[in-house]
Amino acid sequence: MKENINDVRLSKHLASPNEATLSHSSELDGVRLSPHFKLSEFLKLEKYPANVPTMQAVANLTYGCHQILEPARLLVGPIIINSGFRNEAVNRKVGGVKNSQHLTGQAADIRPKDPRQFQQLVDFLKSWEYTDQLLTGSGWLHISWNPLAPPRHFVRIGYYK
Ligand SMILES: [Zn+2]
Repeated sequence: MKENINDVRLSKHLASPNEATLSHSSELDGVRLSPHFKLSEFLKLEKYPANVPTMQAVANLTYGCHQILEPARLLVGPIIINSGFRNEAVNRKVGGVKNSQHLTGQAADIRPKDPRQFQQLVDFLKSWEYTDQLLTGSGWLHISWNPLAPPRHFVRIGYYK
């Protein structure tokens, strides 16, 4: 039942061709993608008010939450999303690559709330069956997924200096 309510909320907003100009996108805050992750955590609307995702991006984010982030959270505890979905403007602003998976809701930059869990998070994602790309930085990492293609298991430790 709860999911139905979320669907209605989303479609009300995202059916609009001018979705990027929504002034009351705060309603997106109530949308939960999985037991421990809310859509708002992936959007950073307080910083980027026009960063409203397409339905396809929401579906992709939901897949990532269920297949990767929830299992990881089970292991290392709460996970902070530094960056999730990015529209073109946000992606440019943060210096993301042109074909970034953040644009389609297929990636997130994350860190464990407890920094001591970082290595365990890396070790888990390195060998996790749904990991598409894993690129690590110092205390945070980029993880991607793709519901439409077999995972590439492309892993680069220390990729971000
Ligand atoms: Zn990233």
